[in-house]
Amino acid sequence: MMTAEPVTIARLTTMVLRMPLDHPMPTAFGLMDARATLLVRLEDRDGAFGWGEIWCNFPTFGGEHRAQLAERIVGPLLLGTPVVPGEAAAGLETRLATLALQTGEFGPLAQVIGGIDMALWDLAAGRAGVPLHRLLGSTTDDVPAYASGINPTRPGDTVRRAQAEGFRAFKLKLGFGRERDLANAEEVAAALQPGETFMVDANQGWQREEACAMAAALLPLGPQWLEEPLPADASRADWSAVADIGIPIAAGENMRGLGAFEDALDAEWLSVAQPDAGKWGGISGGLAVARRALSAGRRFCPHHLAGAIGLLHAAHLLAAAGGDGLLETDSNDNPLRTALVGDLPPLQNGRWPLPSGPGLGREPDRAAVTPWIARETEIRGSMP
Ligand SMILES: [Mg+2]
Repeated sequence: MMTAEPVTIARLTTMVLRMPLDHPMPTAFGLMDARATLLVRLEDRDGAFGWGEIWCNFPTFGGEHRAQLAERIVGPLLLGTPVVPGEAAAGLETRLATLALQTGEFGPLAQVIGGIDMALWDLAAGRAGVPLHRLLGSTTDDVPAYASGINPTRPGDTVRRAQAEGFRAFKLKLGFGRERDLANAEEVAAALQPGETFMVDANQGWQREEACAMAAALLPLGPQWLEEPLPADASRADWSAVADIGIPIAAGENMRGLGAFEDALDAEWLSVAQPDAGKWGGISGGLAVARRALSAGRRFCPHHLAGAIGLLHAAHLLAAAGGDGLLETDSNDNPLRTALVGDLPPLQNGRWPLPSGPGLGREPDRAAVTPWIARETEIRGSMP
């Protein structure tokens, strides 16, 4: 495990942001009617600080609950005593394991700890005066990216818009019925230019029989991967049956714990490991999965479909991980993400240049997002 110097956290701030959407986004599990983001900021007793993002996409009112978990449950365990980025998250997981069992809140607690791990790493890189990916051992300045979240309505148009932005890989959402899914996959495949590729994501929408049938129908179109054709808790036998059809299987945004990834890699059905740092593991867990996946000859593509701080973390994580993975970038309009850190640099030949400043290289612009701040709270630790 990569570690940094110990730090003593003096303040923890959470900020819930929520922006209603004019055009709600369809997904296989319901309509997303708002963009919600939960940020966590940690400041050490020397005034150095870092930012993380805690997943809270669904339900869109769930940010406040996770913010309270951060302030009232996780934060007090963190503040006031020296902690080591890269080790603190595992310690918090252990200390909160019984509470997670008692409450059944495995997900929300893991999400909060993931965001805190990110913030600790950003803080550590800021203290060291280097970009986060450099602190984590990266030797690159950019990462390949793909346009994600391509919706079932006129997907070819979305691909063409993404092509104009410099993307060379595109991921289509499936799970809207066999005929529509296959027609959309054909439309996307037909829109590709030479050298471009596409992927498909069923968002856990199928069971074994349908997943195998759809994989067989999609195979001739040559997608790079088929993502979450089954529920994340499907049996090893079901996953292996779908993987045997021949399209590489991607999953991980709904897997929690290094052991879950190790099982899937050992069983050989998982070709593309996609942990979401804001749902489980933060940067530290993501790097552990990346090392395990790459050493097994599989791919590592961090999942992210939320706000700007999480996107920056995913980019630094991917750069540090190495391999031939791609950065997931939401193709849907997200004015909240843009307001938070401003416009991100344009893609160059399908690759996204990492910010060059210390830490994440960008900070949230509080003034720009003030209209959408739904809740903001700070707690302070007592100093020894
Ligand atoms: Mg997905």
